[in-house]
Amino acid sequence: MADTALMSIPGLFDPVPTPRDITARTDGRVDLIGLPKPRIIELFAAAGLDAKAAKLRAKQVFHWLYHRGATDFAAMTDIAKDMRPWLGERFVIGRPEVMLSQHSSDGTRKWLLKTADDHEYEMVFIPDESRGTLCVSSQVGCTLNCRFCHTGTMRLVRNLTPGEIVGQVMLARDALGEWPNSSSSRAGPGTAGLMPQPFAQFPAVPDQVRDDDWDDEDDDDDGGGYSADGRLLTNIVMMGMGEPLYNFDNVRDALKLVMDGDGLGLSKRRITLSTSGVVPMMARAGAEIGVNLAVSLHATNKAVRDEIVPINRKYGIEELLQACADYPGASNARRITFEYVMLKDKNDSDADARELVRLIKLYNLPAKVNLIPFNPWPGAIYECSSPERIKRFSDIVFDAGISAPVRTPRGRDIDAACGQLKTTAQKMTRAELDRLADEKQAALG
Ligand code: SAH
Ligand code: SF4
Repeated sequence: MADTALMSIPGLFDPVPTPRDITARTDGRVDLIGLPKPRIIELFAAAGLDAKAAKLRAKQVFHWLYHRGATDFAAMTDIAKDMRPWLGERFVIGRPEVMLSQHSSDGTRKWLLKTADDHEYEMVFIPDESRGTLCVSSQVGCTLNCRFCHTGTMRLVRNLTPGEIVGQVMLARDALGEWPNSSSSRAGPGTAGLMPQPFAQFPAVPDQVRDDDWDDEDDDDDGGGYSADGRLLTNIVMMGMGEPLYNFDNVRDALKLVMDGDGLGLSKRRITLSTSGVVPMMARAGAEIGVNLAVSLHATNKAVRDEIVPINRKYGIEELLQACADYPGASNARRITFEYVMLKDKNDSDADARELVRLIKLYNLPAKVNLIPFNPWPGAIYECSSPERIKRFSDIVFDAGISAPVRTPRGRDIDAACGQLKTTAQKMTRAELDRLADEKQAALG
């Protein structure tokens, strides 16, 4: 890609190509999605509006984009008629291109998306009985190579722009028909029909689910819940492809648009950012984004975490837990979620469970543990722990006073479950080849 800058990354890993906030288009127009309001004002002024008009028009357009879901300037009825074509000649309102949309038998939906410069990435929507969660990608691929994660076998192609990140949320609202039913060009068919019966199309979650939740006991409910205003998309997790804290600026800027009261208006309490442990960026994430934090811990000792979450070689468990203890805004009402993938005979013993409890208590962390049954993918070298083992692990943590629900895998039949995302267009990469070589060597002893 021509128009990129290199983002410097702390640690062992390669710099990530980061596109500029505005991706150049061949027709010379500028896509407004993903730009903060002050930037839109600047662009309107540069296109010839005086300062006062630029400010007013930016405010109106912003409202149409994020509050009403308009995708056409012609629909912006409170903007003067002759102004609308003027805008259309200079600007566009983009959406990620949908290459494929799939439905799981459990109601989960996955979309394969494409950037304007032809890179593929994915987003997943997971409805359950009390919420609808959109799992959003932050990068095309991932530079980190967690050994149990399919995305980790992809070569990182690039960071997603703020527009490509917030565009996932907008696209989901398009697909679910969830823009306010107004003269918006996107208030799609089925908007009204969907609201009274959100479950007509989504089967209930199976009985064995103990709790599939992300924390929200303390919800202030301004995100629009199933019950409050009938919306299906109630929560966002930054748990799709990529490591969000390696694309910090763009993820922050996109989430600001998601949280903006005049933007998408979703409460920060309904948004969770998951990191594999990019310790130097965690304090900034708390201060500048302020959403719920999830940490992919997955192991309780250096040897195992070094192996399965290799960023641990750079930022060890102690540093990571200290950064969690320092995370602004964490409290018993807003606990940090520790994700723990259950890998047979690797990290799933009683001793591991007890050590997990000890560590959480040692750092005095307001925590809950999400136990994730390992989701298999072709070529994976791990197996999932047995249901009995997972239950036993959960009980040990739970008996120590820490919530430890087992997450039900969702969308496995369409490869939409945690760690299964990998765009099919990817060929075998250097990282994958290196890893396979390592594994073969290990197998040979
Ligand atoms: N890069 C971020 C967020 C994306 S991954 C992170 O690592 O936290 C979202 C979650 O899915 C992480 O906890 C990740 O460790 C977990 N995961 C990855 N591969 C998995 C697999 N095959 N089975 C179950 N969980 C997996
Ligand atoms: Fe990247 Fe997260 Fe997968 Fe690790 S688990 S390879 S950080 S996406």
